[in-house]
Amino acid sequence: MIVRDTPVIRTEGLTRVFSTGANRVRALSDVDLVVESGEMISLVGSSGSGKSTLMNLLGCLDRATSGSYWLDGRDVSDLARNRLATIRNRRIGFVFQGYNLLPRTTALANVEMPLLYRRGDVPRLAGPEAEEALARVGLADRMDFEPNELSGGQQQRVAIARALVTRPSILLADEPTGNLDSRMSIEILALFQELHRQGLTIILVTHEREIVKYTRRTIELRDGMIVRDEPVIDRREAAADLSLPHDSIKVV
Ligand code: ADP
Ligand code: MG
Repeated sequence: MIVRDTPVIRTEGLTRVFSTGANRVRALSDVDLVVESGEMISLVGSSGSGKSTLMNLLGCLDRATSGSYWLDGRDVSDLARNRLATIRNRRIGFVFQGYNLLPRTTALANVEMPLLYRRGDVPRLAGPEAEEALARVGLADRMDFEPNELSGGQQQRVAIARALVTRPSILLADEPTGNLDSRMSIEILALFQELHRQGLTIILVTHEREIVKYTRRTIELRDGMIVRDEPVIDRREAAADLSLPHDSIKVV
């Protein structure tokens, strides 16, 4: 049941310890976090500070060692991995730095993929929904192109379309512009801003200071702990909107 005004994300004491041989790494330590519906947040911190660990937990790709996680008010901390996968498929879109597209597979087929994994869906419905998601990221004219026929920015847009096709309310992106030059990074950020305006809750991992000013709240991790959590108070600053850089980004 989704209760009105429940935060989309709430964690309490979220902790992840990795054990490799005799070593124990406390990658995330007692993280308390509340994210309201419709927020756009940048998550920053130096390499190894725990950003990906936190994103993977929030994205239901991994399970915490201890602590609690409520997604839409529902405690998902103790769910088995297959139940988490179902929830992830319904609620969360995840975008990776490396795109993770299938090679020698068209943009359309890549975007259809999450729908085919969804139990109970009729496969023939996947086509139109994937086409719509690709149109949403400005790639209506590239549906039949394979990843190696697309630029880095276009490949990342395919990956975003794939994250959007299940109609999630939360979009998590772990260094989505990490492999892109600055012009393409701006394109991708403009797209995230537009999706945010359309009501998606977005968390972006970045280590580029530039990006931070395009979001409304910045959370900084150090050694697995939140050391800073600041809203942008100056509304003019918060509204440092990126104008869409060229006509091909059409967001419907
Ligand atoms: P960031 O994304 O901020 O660079 P990570 O969350 O990837 O940081 O890593 C945080 C810490 O946890 C690092 O010290 C890293 O070496 C460790 N870590 C991450 N994933 C694993 C893993 N699967 N096994 C062991 N240690 C890990
Ligand atoms: Mg990382």
